[in-house]
Amino acid sequence: MVAAPHPFKDNGSTFTESLSDALVVLRKSQHIARVGSWLWNPATQQLTWSDEMYHILAWTHHDLTPDMARLVSCFQTEDQAKMAWLTDLNNLENRTVEGHIALPDGRQRIVRVYVECHFDPKQGVTKQIGLLQDVTDKIEARQQMAIVTKVFGNALGEVEQRLKITAQVFENAIEGVMITDAKGVIQSVNPAFSAITGYTAEEALGENARFMHSDRHDEAFFSNLINSLKQKGQWEGEIWNRKKSGEAYPEQCSITALTDETGLITHYITVSNDLTDIKRSEEALHYQTYHDALTGLPNRTLFMDRLEQLLSHAGRTGERVAVLTLDLDRFKSINDSLGPPQGDFFLQETARRLQGMLRSGDTVCRLSGDEFSFIIREVKSIKNIIGVLKKVNELIENPFMIHDQPYFLTASTGVTLFPEDGEDPDSLLKNAGLAMNRAKEAGRANYQFYTATMGEQASSRLKLESSLRKALDHGEFELFYQPKVNVDRDEMLSMEALVRWNRSDGTVTGPLAFISLAEETGLIVPLGRWILETACRQTRIWMQRYDIQLKVAVNLSTRQFRDENLVDMVKETLNITGLDAQHLELEITESMVACDVEKAIETLEQLRGLGISIAMDDFGTGYSSLSYLKRFPIQTLKIDQSFVRGLADDPNDAAIISTIISMARAMNLDVVAEGVECVEQLEILKQQGCKQVQGYFFSKPLPSADFIAMLESYHQG
Ligand code: C2E
Ligand code: MG
Ligand code: MG
Repeated sequence: MVAAPHPFKDNGSTFTESLSDALVVLRKSQHIARVGSWLWNPATQQLTWSDEMYHILAWTHHDLTPDMARLVSCFQTEDQAKMAWLTDLNNLENRTVEGHIALPDGRQRIVRVYVECHFDPKQGVTKQIGLLQDVTDKIEARQQMAIVTKVFGNALGEVEQRLKITAQVFENAIEGVMITDAKGVIQSVNPAFSAITGYTAEEALGENARFMHSDRHDEAFFSNLINSLKQKGQWEGEIWNRKKSGEAYPEQCSITALTDETGLITHYITVSNDLTDIKRSEEALHYQTYHDALTGLPNRTLFMDRLEQLLSHAGRTGERVAVLTLDLDRFKSINDSLGPPQGDFFLQETARRLQGMLRSGDTVCRLSGDEFSFIIREVKSIKNIIGVLKKVNELIENPFMIHDQPYFLTASTGVTLFPEDGEDPDSLLKNAGLAMNRAKEAGRANYQFYTATMGEQASSRLKLESSLRKALDHGEFELFYQPKVNVDRDEMLSMEALVRWNRSDGTVTGPLAFISLAEETGLIVPLGRWILETACRQTRIWMQRYDIQLKVAVNLSTRQFRDENLVDMVKETLNITGLDAQHLELEITESMVACDVEKAIETLEQLRGLGISIAMDDFGTGYSSLSYLKRFPIQTLKIDQSFVRGLADDPNDAAIISTIISMARAMNLDVVAEGVECVEQLEILKQQGCKQVQGYFFSKPLPSADFIAMLESYHQG
């Protein structure tokens, strides 16, 4: 084996050549490796530096002679102390030290110094070999590597961490997550997806996402979704899918398309929230907001909403629509007497019956209390509506059974038509209400169609109501008196008090125009007391002044008659006015007593007990049965003026009057004929045996001053 030529060894005849080659190789290698070297012989103090030493230190051979102290001085000031050992010949040992060299041009290099000392036990250090390596690039590369490692190392950590978090989010999210490939084939789902859909991961993977579609969306919906994904890479919205159980359910979905670097879609990620519960509570809330809790019918809000939609449709198509408002008659007294739970039953049962008769597209709602409203679509003719109204009445008039006991109800209904009576829901409903009120006024248990005059009447009624409230305080009421005449003796012993309202504008309003309003507003109670007191006081004064016997008749209204305090009020009035009870007669009508006969009889008996007499006014217009009439403690029948009016011409009226007179005689009742205007009527009445008459033929109702004059003339004459 041939030993490698040693650059510093003499190898014989080829030595020079070899040496020179070896030196070239060495110089080249030192240059490439950026390693300079020195050789120092302590014995001879000879120090040689290789060429690369000069390169590294950036000095030329001319400017620098090899010198270890000079080498140390090439280091940066702060490193010079660290490198001082290079000059200490007593401290020679093998070492590797790094330091910074300051180049003459100011740049810095990092160098590594290796020192190897050769020892001889006898001579000590025989030589020192030193290497000076420029490691700047290496160190910088290492530093960069460290930075890179640090940066990338952390970054990789972050990514890793992020992936970890993402995985946890994926696993624990309450949103269902589904990842599909570009064709929609499911590649991954999370546990929430399984919880929502009922499909385990194993069942879902490999399926196309379409396998969960419900039939609630059309093609257009999906093509819009796909377009959005293609164009924006995203789609968000509500979608109905089908669970494994078969149940369709709504979910809020966000679908994101993932693309590769060429922009090609590779995956879709779908994140979805099950909206079933939200929808349910939304629906419950919606239901509460738009339905009546007692009957489950749509409430006024929903009704108006539907009506509005319907009208806008009907406005375009020319469809005719009817709005009906129905109010149960006398529901309040049922509710008061049976109690609210039974009252609720009537309302629920009414709702059930009404709902049962509706065609699809028609709507019934509970407006309030015992008021219901209907919308009837596609009204072809009035006959159409009358058919519905009859049906409604039949339904309501069927007995309501409570504890096997039948109860009978009736209803009053008002009807308005679109477009004739109003073009918007508010005016239609308002007008249906007006018509319904009119049906009530007309005796209940019937229906009325709205007419334009109802609206005008309603507004003038409002005005009337506000001035009526002030009229009593302002002393605007006055009593007129109309005599009742005894036909045989032509004497006047009694009179009827009739109220008048002298309004602040100078006009006089008759009782027919305001009594029912005073009833509704409750004003009739104080007004009635004032009338009774005035009539009683006036009569007592006249009786005293002219020393005659008089009897005054005072009309009672329904509400007054039913007032719990009526008997006490009458008694008190007689007391304070000092009129003896036998000089007072109260006029009632058949309708007042028809509703609750037993109660009416009780009240009448109490009034009779006070000593006053009772007359049945307007007799013949109501439906009193004779058996009831017999039970009422009344003394007089006043034949309604409508029969008297036709007396001379209409044989029927004459027959009716004759019947009433003979019946009254049989029952031992007095008879008064009202509205006698002419001598013919008077003669017939006389022939038929009527003893008392009242009418314009003798006198119109007169203010008290005129009545006194007439009274005086009678008593003087
Ligand atoms: P009513 O009690 O039957 O009174 C008779 C009505 O007929 C009165 O009308 C009277 O003016 C009118 N009348 C009398 N004779 C004739 C006649 O020959 N021809 C015609 N066409 N009419 C005649 P009025 O005063 O307008 O009263 C109308 C109704 O108002 C009364 O009918 C009564 O029901 C009610 N009313 C009048 N005053 C009072 C009152 O003070 N209290 C109450 N609660 N109701 C009253
Ligand atoms: Mg009367
Ligand atoms: Mg009358």
